Parts: sequence; structure tokens; C-alpha cells
Amino acid sequence: MDRPNKSIQCSVEQCAHHCSDCDYCSLDTVKIGTHECDPSVEQCTDCLSFDAKY
Ligand code: SF4
Repeated sequence: MDRPNKSIQCSVEQCAHHCSDCDYCSLDTVKIGTHECDPSVEQCTDCLSFDAKY
């Protein structure tokens, strides 16, 4: 059973680290990055700890 980390809210249900019964990540830490050279809005950022569930 995944243990929710209440410090990391996340709604990405397709990620293997997502707690399926609540919107939290189960990892102790996550790494955030960007795919842009000059990020300006939230959509420019990514969770680099994402692992596809399937
Ligand atoms: S690793 Fe990232 S995308 Fe996956 S559940 Fe945790 S915060 Fe969400």
C-alpha cells in the first residue's frame, strides 16, 4: 500500500508513484524540472520523478 507524502500533493493518477486513493505522491522527495529554456508559466515545469503506471 502506498504511503502518501502529505508534503507532495499530486493529481497525476497515471504515475506509478501516485497514491491511487488520494491525491498525494508516495515518494519521500521528487525532482522538478523544465522542458523549456526560459520557463514562464506553470505548464513549462515537469515532475522528473514521473514513472508511467503501465
Ligand atoms: S512522482 Fe511526480 S508525477 Fe508521480 S506521483 Fe509523485 S509528484 Fe506526481
